[in-house]
Amino acid sequence: MNTTTSVNKKEILFHGIPASPGIAIAPVRLIDPGAGSAPVSEKRTQITQDQVDQEIDLFSQAVASARDEIRSLRDSLQGEEAQIFDAHLLIASDRMLANEVTAMIRKRLFPAERAFTEVIDRYVETISNMPDKYFRERATDIRDVAKRIGKFLSGMSAGETAAPAPTEPEVIIARDLTPSDTATLDRTKVLGFAIETGSTTSHTAIVARSMKLPAVVGMQRLFNRLENGDRVIIDGYLGMVVINPEPETIAFYEEKIARQNQLLEELQKESSMTAETLDGYQIHLAANVEGVDGLDEVIRSGAAGIGLFRTEYLFMNKSVLPDEETQFKTYRLLAERMQGQPVIIRTLDVGGDKISALLTEQSEPNPFLGLRAIRLSMSHPELMRTQMRAILRAARFGNIKILFPMISSVGELDSLLAMLEDVKEALKAEQIPYSPQVEIGVMIEVPAAALIADQLAEKVDFFSIGSNDLVQYTLAVDRTNEKVAHLYNPMHPAVIELIARAAKAARDHHIWIGCCGELAGYTQFTPLLVGLGIQEFSMSCASLAPVRRVIRRLSRIEAEKLVEQIRSVADPQKAMELCQEFLVRIAPDVAKMNKGF
Ligand code: PEP
Ligand code: MG
Repeated sequence: MNTTTSVNKKEILFHGIPASPGIAIAPVRLIDPGAGSAPVSEKRTQITQDQVDQEIDLFSQAVASARDEIRSLRDSLQGEEAQIFDAHLLIASDRMLANEVTAMIRKRLFPAERAFTEVIDRYVETISNMPDKYFRERATDIRDVAKRIGKFLSGMSAGETAAPAPTEPEVIIARDLTPSDTATLDRTKVLGFAIETGSTTSHTAIVARSMKLPAVVGMQRLFNRLENGDRVIIDGYLGMVVINPEPETIAFYEEKIARQNQLLEELQKESSMTAETLDGYQIHLAANVEGVDGLDEVIRSGAAGIGLFRTEYLFMNKSVLPDEETQFKTYRLLAERMQGQPVIIRTLDVGGDKISALLTEQSEPNPFLGLRAIRLSMSHPELMRTQMRAILRAARFGNIKILFPMISSVGELDSLLAMLEDVKEALKAEQIPYSPQVEIGVMIEVPAAALIADQLAEKVDFFSIGSNDLVQYTLAVDRTNEKVAHLYNPMHPAVIELIARAAKAARDHHIWIGCCGELAGYTQFTPLLVGLGIQEFSMSCASLAPVRRVIRRLSRIEAEKLVEQIRSVADPQKAMELCQEFLVRIAPDVAKMNKGF
């Protein structure tokens, strides 16, 4: 493959960030929505005093029409995608924004579209310069809402969009693509996209993954290299875009697509097989779930339960907090749909990068070290009690377990357990039916919890390793900061020692231990985790099939030898190589898939 970057129309390879796996080959359609603010009318820069009321009306109607359009878009979607439009609705309903635009129309005699553009550009600039990556990424949401309101201000009607609908297969290249631009892409024609902005945690990337649309983000300076109709390849596995590919590069990628489809089909057929090692050791494979809309996929994927239900998604992007009844209905639905299989409900883990406008009162200097998870829940005891009541009530309808996040001391756990007993007493006194026999677990995701695992194990029924946080807190590496991403290494010996310590404590105290962090879904780490004694693996549904295959090709004895080898090397890079070599030996097809075939 030619990787020169100079001559036009020659094959050029660009590297970005993989946002959604898969490969797409098609001609390009360039989309340049510009900054996204409402277009400033060239003819109207000023109005007269007697036009003020009319302009304010025009603005109010445009906002109302935009809100209607967002609502119907939200109602046509599910899960996380729908939640994004809940957030857009909040932005479009912002009183401060409306008041500022109205004041500008009145005081400066600007036409509605000009006043709106001035105000929104200021908002976007402020938020784009915030130090917190989460907030910076929300600038895209504001631009998206602004574009929609701008469309109505400029006289377009609902459903109309500036870009023509595609008639042939294509890939989209844009400087930026808002979540709603992405959600409304015609999946039958648009095969993939690449954008100059974004990260793996941006909403656009989340929507792409849930649409199974191959995507690459953070592709700086790509847009100007291309013209409409240029042929490109999007490689969502490796985060690459090939522009003007040579025929042999296209043939190379077409072969990759064929291999990908063949392996995915094969793996799907194994979804009902048990996850048992060659020497008869059973692993429990479960799914991580963020909302009830994902349940069909959980059942299709053959998950033996839900290993992590992240309840915070019920509280994020919401205009009101879910009450006991709403939570009870959600948890009951989970329990019933899973028909007796375990459903692990983690209590609220808001904080860090998971923001609930209703609960996160002010920004903290170090949000990951601040009022997060049970710290936040315990500072709002009513919130915690309500959640406990809803979970205990729903537990009558299936096999529900409770998981407490971010435990770092025995005292914290004692307070939670005492509160749980109080809640049970209250339910009993109120004669409200509930299940008293609910298993309790703690997340091992703070190094302190791993170090006192023996003491914690005496008080609970299970542990679940939260590797995403355990890595960040052990190595002091912010898991969302791309500048230190190269230091975020789960193979660091300190991380492995902490997991081993927690696993030993679980074994010594006869309780079970699982892992619900991303580590559980990466096949190169499956043998290591099995060797360390992890008994339950919980992950996103898409990872279940390859992990199941690796477990079925593995012997526990060999996995334990791998652990010994890894614990004897101090170098994380060497540990990673040992894991890779092991995987290539036992499941070469899966190892190939990790590298994009
Ligand atoms: C973890 O930290 O590994 C985990 C599963 O929790 P979250 O990613 O929600 O913090
Ligand atoms: Mg965590």
